[in-house]
Amino acid sequence: MSEQSIGTRCVQAGYTPGDGEPRQIPIVQSTTFKYATSEHMGQLFDLEAEGYFYTRLQNPTNDAVAAKIAALEGGAAAMLTSSGQAANFFALFNICEAGSHVVASSAIYGGTYNLIAHTMAKMGIESTFVSPTCTPEELEAAFRPNTRAVFGETIANPALDVLDIERFASAAHAHGVPLIVDNTFPTPVFCRPIEWGADIVTHSTTKYMDGHGVGVGGAIVDSGNFDWMAHADKFPGLTTPDESYHGIVYAEKFGQAGAFITKATSQLMRDLGSIQSPQNAFYLNMGLESLHVRMPRHFENGLAVAEYLAGSDKVTSVRFPHLAGDPYHELAQKYLPEGGSGVVSFELAGGRAAAEKFMAALRLAAIETHVADARTCCLHPASATHRQMNDEELVAAGISPAMVRFSCGLEDSADLIADIEQALAAI
Ligand SMILES: *Cc1c(COP(=O)(O)O)cnc(C)c1O
Repeated sequence: MSEQSIGTRCVQAGYTPGDGEPRQIPIVQSTTFKYATSEHMGQLFDLEAEGYFYTRLQNPTNDAVAAKIAALEGGAAAMLTSSGQAANFFALFNICEAGSHVVASSAIYGGTYNLIAHTMAKMGIESTFVSPTCTPEELEAAFRPNTRAVFGETIANPALDVLDIERFASAAHAHGVPLIVDNTFPTPVFCRPIEWGADIVTHSTTKYMDGHGVGVGGAIVDSGNFDWMAHADKFPGLTTPDESYHGIVYAEKFGQAGAFITKATSQLMRDLGSIQSPQNAFYLNMGLESLHVRMPRHFENGLAVAEYLAGSDKVTSVRFPHLAGDPYHELAQKYLPEGGSGVVSFELAGGRAAAEKFMAALRLAAIETHVADARTCCLHPASATHRQMNDEELVAAGISPAMVRFSCGLEDSADLIADIEQALAAI
């Protein structure tokens, strides 16, 4: 059953019931698990035996769904987290500590930017941001002796820049550190960053993976390809004894394929506790079962809307990586040959006022601080997420006051375009 297609993995991977067992993944709604002897429980705590003991560390429902996501990304191991924010924090903090440094693409989700630039800085972890289109010299100059990871997003939310994964992976590897890629927007249906050299992949499963606006969640997938022992001095957390775990050396005991996720589970999840509830993992799995059917529709709708907008004289610019003429069109052809996401951003002639009128006139598309839902949603950053900024500050931050982010759902594209048409007419 190796090498199944991505669609078959969406439906089947991660859980194979035996005779008489539930067909659907059971929701193991239990905080704890029972054992007959203290010796047995002791072996679990020592990581000498495998088994469940407390849901903050592991739960069978979550493990089945994580195994499906690992299979989709072509990874060696995976874990679920309570949110995408927790996934990115755990992925970085698993290999960074006070005194470390991170190189990150500047085209990333605002929440992740805040996490790296501000919150992790308070923990003593420094960072340098580089444009995804920086020159080779600029990328090289971003590294320091204490750099421990490189971070980027396959398709940036909301900038829609496409990361040159091979280029960032080879720069990371030349400096003996892994590349972490947030693959939330294209999902493994359209891009599997590990195939291009990424070492660790993260997700906000809240978005397309869930796909129905049901549950906030995250996931971390380890490729198992990064040789921690070859760079042992940089990653003491994986390559030297963990005194909080009876002196276990993760990279020795669990090998290259198991070390990263085992440490993140038994140390970070134990201490920081950002577990996904089994109920939410069950909902996430329902979303994953149709991910391969939904993603092409989101993308088709995105492309149809982008092409329509590009032909309107009330629209001054449209960003959609697969639109001819987009600055990232070439990278989209390379990394996302079958599609990207359903998110389009565009600017209206007439500035902030025109954008406000357009938003107010929409009937089908709902105003939400969300993307990647089955129902089309849109946001005017200047009056929502970035409303504390004036027009000059917005421009300095790379956000036009006239910009609208439009996340195409699964409706019929003709209806989405009709809604946009009447809203443009109302400006
Ligand atoms: C939404 C998002 C996040 C944060 O995820 P939450 O589940 O909201 O915590 C991280 N990265 C990207 C690309 C996102 O779109």
